[in-house]
Amino acid sequence: MSRLLMSILAVGLLVSCGTGKDGKSDVPDGGFNLFPVEKDRELGAQVAKEIASKPAEFPILDSASNVAAYKYIYGVRDKILATGQVKHKDDFLWKIHIIKNDTTLNAFCTPGGYIYFYTGIIKYLENEAQLAGVMGHEMAHADLRHSTRQMTKVFGVQILLAAALGDQSVLGQITTGLLSLKFSRNHETEADHLGVHYLCPTEWQSDGGAGFFEKIMAEGGQTPPEFLSTHPSPDNRVENYHTWAQEEGCSGNATNEAAFRNFQALFD
Ligand SMILES: [Zn+2]
Repeated sequence: MSRLLMSILAVGLLVSCGTGKDGKSDVPDGGFNLFPVEKDRELGAQVAKEIASKPAEFPILDSASNVAAYKYIYGVRDKILATGQVKHKDDFLWKIHIIKNDTTLNAFCTPGGYIYFYTGIIKYLENEAQLAGVMGHEMAHADLRHSTRQMTKVFGVQILLAAALGDQSVLGQITTGLLSLKFSRNHETEADHLGVHYLCPTEWQSDGGAGFFEKIMAEGGQTPPEFLSTHPSPDNRVENYHTWAQEEGCSGNATNEAAFRNFQALFD
C-alpha cells in the first residue's frame, strides 16, 4: 500500500473515530468517512449555489424582507447550537433558507449545514418543539456527515483515492452522484436519535420531532410527505423518540405554541 493511501486511510479513520457526543459506535457503517470536513462544506456550498440558481423550483424568501420570520427561526437554531451538543457547530455555516411552497411538507439540510424549510412544513407543524425537533433531525444529518459517509460507502476507496489525488473529473462525477443519493434508513434513525440528544438540554420537549409523525398518523398517513420517504415507518419513529427522551432523562416540556403561531402567521 502506498504511503499516500495509508495516510488517506489514516485520516479517514481519525475522522470516523472522533468522539461524537452522541457516543454511538454501533452504527452500521461505523461512521467511516474518508472525506475531510472541508469536503462537506464544499459540497454544501455547491448545492446551495445550485438551489439559489433555480428560483422557480426553490422560491426562497429573502431574509431582508422577511426579517421577523428569519429572526424567529434562527432563534430556534441558536438554542440548538448553544447546547454544546452539535459537534460541527463551528465547522459548518448552519445557514437557514425558507422556501415559499405551502404544499411541500419537507425540510432538508445539505452537507456543511445549509438548512432549508418549506413553508408547507412550517404551516403543518403545531408548535415550536416540533419545529426544533425537525430542525434537530436535519442538522444531525449534516453533523453526522451522512452525505460524505454515504459517498465513502457507495463510491469506494479507489474512486475516492482518485478524488483525493485531485482528479477533478472523478470528483465531478461523485458530486453529481451525491445529489441523487438518499440517506439510508439507519441514517434516518441516527438523525432522529441525535436530534433528541440536541434538544434534551433545552426547555423544549426533546421528542418534539415525534409530533410531526403523530399528526401524520392521526390524519391517516395518506400520501407520505418527502420527509418520510425512505424513512423508517412513522410509528417506529414515534416510539423511538419517546424511548430516547426517557432514556436520557430529558425534562424539557416547553412547546411555545403561542410564539410558534405568531411565526406561522407571518406566512399567511
Ligand atoms: Zn432525515
